[in-house]
Formats: sequence, C-alpha cells, structure tokens
Amino acid sequence: MDILQNIDVGLVVMSPDYTIEVWNSFMQNHSGKAPEDVLNRSIFTVFPELSEQWFRHKSQSVFVLQNTAFTTWEQRPYLFRFPHYRPITGTAEYMYQNSTIIPLVDTKGEVGHICLVIYDVTDSAVNKIAQQQANKQLQNLSRTDHLTGLFNRGYWELRLIQEFKRYDRYEQASSLIMLDIDHFKKINDKYGHTIGDEAIRGVSRAIKEQVRDLDIAGRYGGEEFGIVLTNTNGDGACVFAERLRSAIEQLTIYTEGHEIKFTVSLGVAELTDKIHDHRNWIEKADQALYKSKEGGRNRCTMLS
Ligand code: GH3
Ligand code: MG
Ligand code: MG
Repeated sequence: MDILQNIDVGLVVMSPDYTIEVWNSFMQNHSGKAPEDVLNRSIFTVFPELSEQWFRHKSQSVFVLQNTAFTTWEQRPYLFRFPHYRPITGTAEYMYQNSTIIPLVDTKGEVGHICLVIYDVTDSAVNKIAQQQANKQLQNLSRTDHLTGLFNRGYWELRLIQEFKRYDRYEQASSLIMLDIDHFKKINDKYGHTIGDEAIRGVSRAIKEQVRDLDIAGRYGGEEFGIVLTNTNGDGACVFAERLRSAIEQLTIYTEGHEIKFTVSLGVAELTDKIHDHRNWIEKADQALYKSKEGGRNRCTMLS
C-alpha cells in the first residue's frame, strides 16, 4: 500500500459498480480531494466531468474480456481535470493524461475490481502541440507571399496544376484570370517603391474581398496576380473580372499630399479540352491580358 501511495502516477481501484475503493496520494494531491471525500462513493458522483457513458463503455471490455484498455491524451486530453501550475509548461492550464484500465482478477478468476492508472504526460503533450503549431506556421509561411498575404507563386502554381487535373478527370468548369496593374512603373517612378507596394496591397485586398473560399488567388509576379475561379465558366469569370476591375478603379491610395488612383487590365481563360496543360492555360490568360493592354488597358478580355 505504501508503494501504491507514493508512486508518481494516479491509482484508483473501483468495484464493478464504479465505487472507489483505493485512492492514492497522487490523486489526492492533484484533485484536492482526500480519501474520506471519495472512498465508497461512485466515481461519477465525485467527478461529474468524467463522461459516464464513455467510461462505462471503455471499462466494459476490461470487466468482460479481462483486457487492458488504454486512452491517450490525443484521444482525450484528460479524464480528470487537474490544474497544472508548472511554469515550464506555461501554456497548459490542465494536466494532460494518458490512462490505462487494468483488470484485477480475483481468486475465482473473475474481474472483481478494475484499476485506473493516470499518467501525467503534460510535458510531452505540450511539446508536441508546440511542434505541430510551429510546423503549421512554417507551412503557411512557405505558401504565402509576404507583401500581400496571398499565395506565393510556387504554391499558387501547385494549386493551379491540381485544378487542371481535377478538370481533366471531372470536366467541371474552371476559369483563370490573370491581372496586371496598368502603368505601374509610373507609380513607382513618381511616388517611390513604398507607395508602389501600397498599390499592390490595395489590389490584393480587393481580390480577397471578391473571391470565394474555393477560389485560388496568388501573386504571380511583381504586380501581376492570378486567380483560379473553380466551378466557374468563362462568362461567369468575365462578370467577376469586371466587378474586380471596377472595384480597383474606385480604389484610392492616400499618401502625404497625394491621392493615387490606378487601374488594372485582366485576361480570362476558361478551361476547355483544347488546353493541354496548366502552362498552356496560363498562356491563354496571358494572351487575353495582352489584348486588354493593347486595347487601351483598364479592361477585361476573354479570347474564344
Ligand atoms: P503595363 O500597363 O504595360 O503593365 O505597364 P507597367 O508599367 O505596369 O509595366 P510592367 O507590368 O512591365 O511593370 C512592372 C513593374 O513593377 C516593374 C517593376 O519595377 C515593378 N515592380 C515589380 N515588383 C514590385 C514590387 O514588389 N514592388 C514595387 N513597388 N514595384 C514592383
Ligand atoms: Mg503592369
Ligand atoms: Mg507586369
């Protein structure tokens, strides 16, 4: 009993009706409940946070099949909500727990009791969660263009390739818009690169406001953007492009003493059987964009 009391894991022995019969000092210290508070009482009365349905189900195979049952913190962060104060794991408010339910077989060969063992795994859980978060941030970072927050070119092209393949298989409509700021060199030359960057950000904000969740918007080059509109045919894409063109035409960039207005030209390419790969798709949209520039800028073109 002394050993059970002093080991650094939680031990709870229960009868088949879930009455607590052993409660070691680990459980006492972390729950703040002394043995006299819990002994001979049902675990579900003492700990309402423990899901009765789940725990009964989990214990059933231990009683009936004499199996040991395991639960990890990844499945359930904890069974008992114990506060956690260790400063080194400052991010954890409660103790992460792994647990095991062991059958205690009596002299008749029956499971007269079960023993619930609780392990404090907060340190490794917190480390793992931090690592997962860092990985996710890294992944986002390598997908995102710093200036605009849109997808960067590499990731955008990857998604474009995926969308091309999806069309190849399911023939669902899809359209690509390429967009380029008109006379951007003049903005840079007249107001400087910082203001130029502001204009680029303004365009990206307008794009973000207009696209839907499934659309794929990226910064393709300096002041060029690509937008894949999924499940959208050429006519639908032209409506979208015109709305975007008009929104950008109404934008104003305010700087000390200046109000800067600018426009964009757009090219639309609907995905058809004639387009043989994703590069060809970009070329088609680029050709349409070129026509818009040639035709006087601040417009949208779709080539048939
Ligand atoms: P056009 O109407 O024919 O598109 O004329 P344009 O002056 O916009 O011509 P072009 O598209 O070739 O110009 C791109 C310019 O964009 C060249 C480069 O100096 C500038 N640029 C590229 N990347 C950035 C950037 O990140 N920030 C800023 N401020 N300027 C950039
Ligand atoms: Mg330009
Ligand atoms: Mg350009």
